[in-house]
Amino acid sequence: MDNVVLETKKLKKIYNFGTENAFEALHDIDFQVSKGEFIAIMGPSGSGKSTFINNISTIDMPTSGTVKINGQSVRKMSSNQIGHFRYENLGFIFQDFNLLDTHTMYENIAMPLSLAHVNRDEIKKRVDALAERMQIKQLLNKFPNECSGGQRQRAAICRALVNNPSIIVADEPTGNLDSVNSAELMKIFQKLNSESGVTIIMVTHDPLITSYSSRLIYIRDGNIEQTLERGDMTQDEYFRKIVDINSTESREILQK
Ligand code: ADP
Repeated sequence: MDNVVLETKKLKKIYNFGTENAFEALHDIDFQVSKGEFIAIMGPSGSGKSTFINNISTIDMPTSGTVKINGQSVRKMSSNQIGHFRYENLGFIFQDFNLLDTHTMYENIAMPLSLAHVNRDEIKKRVDALAERMQIKQLLNKFPNECSGGQRQRAAICRALVNNPSIIVADEPTGNLDSVNSAELMKIFQKLNSESGVTIIMVTHDPLITSYSSRLIYIRDGNIEQTLERGDMTQDEYFRKIVDINSTESREILQK
């Protein structure tokens, strides 16, 4: 695959490693993502989606195997190096937005830059430009609890983008949004993806949300069970295939 931005080899995660409660949540996963892909990760509850996304994005560390992001192996980095590496490479969006209610929208968006000691003028320039693009500029002095869910999610997107990451990692980003705001967020993702070449890796349980992606990864019992490329399919054709995969997989689990 050309332009690989993320690669895992034999990625294994064992929770409570070395104790009698040890549990292997991911089994030797080999996985590659190319620059500009928009990956959706699906699978039943408890199949390992969050574990997977956390372990490929430095939030958690694998028990064994390798994870390379933009050619750099992350497993042996110190926590200091990881902080710096995240700032250089990754942007995160979470289901509950993770905005700090005691900080304004501006301060929330600026957070990754403030932590990296970027100078004030540069911070202002970048925050203003992104807020303008996401149409929340008039809300920058408000606090998150004075804004709607969709507006807070836009602030979370600005915060994820403010350090110009090459990869966005999103865990159930539409989990707290209504259908209109969810579709809007997916269009923003598609645009970032097609116009700015940002790679997106997203966990979702919703086939409609997945239908905006370029590739589906279906995880079951800690393995990648299936993958589906959108390729030349229309969004509607892709959506139907995604629904098929989900229902076939669910039927198999019921029959087990
Ligand atoms: P999903 O995101 O698909 O719902 P998770 O990645 O959260 O699944 O969990 C995968 C499996 O790992 C589940 O069986 C879960 O109980 C287990 N697990 C998740 N986190 C921990 C943890 N911190 N300690 C022990 N087991 C865990």
